[in-house]
Amino acid sequence: MMTNIEKIIKQGKIHWVCGSCGELCGNKHRLGHMATFHIGVCDVCGLSTAITEIRDYGGLNERRAIANAQSIEDKLSKFNEE
Ligand SMILES: [Zn+2]
Repeated sequence: MMTNIEKIIKQGKIHWVCGSCGELCGNKHRLGHMATFHIGVCDVCGLSTAITEIRDYGGLNERRAIANAQSIEDKLSKFNEE
């Protein structure tokens, strides 16, 4: 069964990501400064937080993102408990 996060990744419409989704879904660790972030909605996890472009992480790595989908779901369920 696909999780919501997997569905979102498969749709491939990911442009803005938060820091943790960027690290989990991108091709590489982010280079550069926090200044590139602004507040908005992450295209992966849907949280309203500091976001930046997925290209800052070398673009979306779909295989890695799918492999990490559960970690993102776990992050969300933790967030919802708080
Ligand atoms: Zn996110």
